[in-house]
Amino acid sequence: MANKKVKVKTPLVEMDGDEMTRIMWRMVKDKLLLPHLDMALEYYDLGLKHRDETDDRVTLEAAEAIKKYGVGVKCATITPNKERVKEYNLRQEWKSPNGTIRGVLDGTVFRAPILVKNIQPSVRTWKKPIHIGRHAYGDIYRNAEMRVEDPGRAELVFTPEGGGSPVRATIHDFKGAGILQGIHNTDRSIQSFARACFTYAYDMKLHLWFGTKDTISKTYDAQFRRVFDEEYKKDWERKFKDAALEYHFALIDDTVARIMRSEGGLLWACKNYDGDVMSDMLGAAYGSLAMITSVLVSPNGWYEFEASHGTVQKHYSKYLKGEKTSTNSMALIFAWAGALRKRGELDSTPDVVEFASYLERAAVETVQKGVMTGDLIRVAEASPKNRQVQTEEFIDAIAGELKGLVVQRIVL
Ligand code: NAP
Ligand code: MG
Repeated sequence: MANKKVKVKTPLVEMDGDEMTRIMWRMVKDKLLLPHLDMALEYYDLGLKHRDETDDRVTLEAAEAIKKYGVGVKCATITPNKERVKEYNLRQEWKSPNGTIRGVLDGTVFRAPILVKNIQPSVRTWKKPIHIGRHAYGDIYRNAEMRVEDPGRAELVFTPEGGGSPVRATIHDFKGAGILQGIHNTDRSIQSFARACFTYAYDMKLHLWFGTKDTISKTYDAQFRRVFDEEYKKDWERKFKDAALEYHFALIDDTVARIMRSEGGLLWACKNYDGDVMSDMLGAAYGSLAMITSVLVSPNGWYEFEASHGTVQKHYSKYLKGEKTSTNSMALIFAWAGALRKRGELDSTPDVVEFASYLERAAVETVQKGVMTGDLIRVAEASPKNRQVQTEEFIDAIAGELKGLVVQRIVL
């Protein structure tokens, strides 16, 4: 391995992005990956300008390429709003690339913290990572809602497509002004969410915890519980027992309390809203947005790895003015490592899996030696070793560590 580059058998789908993360992406490739790997990249430029030039076709092409090859790695991208349309002189306010890709691959988003010894999570008992699996379909994110000003009856009405009489249920008889909301989910989506969670937990050797409010919501939340139970009984009970893993269901409030007392080492499956709220709580508790990894796992066996943070626009404007930046590339590096590990597993190329571990280890050891970007220095344990470095210096330090590991071929 010391003299020879590691060969990655199947092409990896690479999706470039925007702003500060695009700058770091280039550095990570040039300094950490290309010196050690002989790999073919299916490159898609999802930078906003190129999405605009291609009428966003490039995003769909990238998603199709992930379907073809199985594994993709994505840089952060701008989701345009009115200001961005002006700034980039866009033809249209293009949709979120993540949304588009999720639409094509139909998946569940898994997030996990990157742990280092000198940054303690704010919850003392957490010794191992807590992962979150967020159902990314339905509930309040696809709702219909209404403000009512006057007294009247609100009803749920279901009209069967094939004829037959509508089914009705009274929601509330309003005596005055109020608010109303209708939400839905589908068995199919919940099943694919459950399957993705069991698969991920099993692959990562994690216990799986799930919580809903099925004592109150006896049809809606109860259906989530039922689908998970059925999936477990049907395909996972034996495998989980053999691997000494547990699947545990509890009420959502009980689950939250158990999470706070747990030592981690588990996947927390969350309904859409719970996952939205709880992944931000986890991010804050683990110290920095740049210490959270993210992977979209599709029920069809396709994977897309990314950082969970955005393009770090504020740092980019400083960079453009020629000012020094101290932006953290950990999550981007872990996205590449995750993609390479999965590629290596699918291709049965242990060298590639091993390189992915070296890459992660080099990044973690750099921080543990006290070499950190600004976001980490703020939350790390105080030490005379601690030294704040700039964006590129940080990647250079990791490159140095990595070279050492590769040369020594340390057995992990
Ligand atoms: P952001 O890029 O995540 O940054 C928010 C703040 O978090 C930064 O200003 C910075 O704080 C801190 N931060 C995030 N990542 C960091 C890193 N790697 N190193 C150091 N500090 C980091 O979110 P945003 O500014 O709200 O969004 C910017 C653009 O990203 C938007 O156009 C949005 O559409 C896009 N976005 C993309 C994705 C994605 O592609 N997955 C996700 C979210 C947002 P300080 O300024 O205090 O240092
Ligand atoms: Mg959120």
